[in-house]
Amino acid sequence: MAVTKGVCYLCGKELGKTAMKNHLLKNHTDNTGDQKSYLLKAEGRYNKDYWIFFDVPVSTNLETVDKFLRRIWLECCGHLSAFSDGSYNEIKKTTKLYNFEEGTQLVHEYDFGSTTETLVTFVSKATRPSQKSAVRLLARNIPPVFPCRECGKPADYIDVEAAYEGENPFYCNACLEELEEEIEECYLLPVTNSPRMGVCGYEGTLDTFSFVKPELLK
Ligand SMILES: [Zn+2]
Ligand SMILES: [Zn+2]
Ligand SMILES: [Zn+2]
Repeated sequence: MAVTKGVCYLCGKELGKTAMKNHLLKNHTDNTGDQKSYLLKAEGRYNKDYWIFFDVPVSTNLETVDKFLRRIWLECCGHLSAFSDGSYNEIKKTTKLYNFEEGTQLVHEYDFGSTTETLVTFVSKATRPSQKSAVRLLARNIPPVFPCRECGKPADYIDVEAAYEGENPFYCNACLEELEEEIEECYLLPVTNSPRMGVCGYEGTLDTFSFVKPELLK
């Protein structure tokens, strides 16, 4: 996968991950608000092309971050999850965010069977204008496009069995319709903008972009 660019949800600018971090620090942490917050980065531990920047009040705890990660790219059937440090020492979800130093990295594990690991980085403390929701989504990678194995157009589905066997597992809707008889539906999962794509029953979330001003979406 090529390195993905992302969109800043506050101004619509498209940038790579590191440039986005600098952009957010420079342009969107003006410290004018009165709510003490933490700028966090989440990325797939083994799929770093999936990434999100968001801010959360420092007075909230890791439970809030867990809920957000589930909502935006993990939740399939209510599996267990946990945070830990780099050596897999568990860190309680009741831990408040102000306890973490800038630069801290935590591992978030969702589902201890087919685990999806997310790296959470505490980028920078700041203040922000008070928000309705605890989590404010600031930027996210543009969904990567996977070419259909039959026709090369952007794929809609991943065939989990083919992925397991190491074949190109991606199909577009049109080709799937033609192949109807040959591929078992139970192995098909939708292409999603998430490191959990193709795992367990993960189908993505419909409200992924509900935080976002519609005019900023293509
Ligand atoms: Zn911006
Ligand atoms: Zn599941
Ligand atoms: Zn196709």
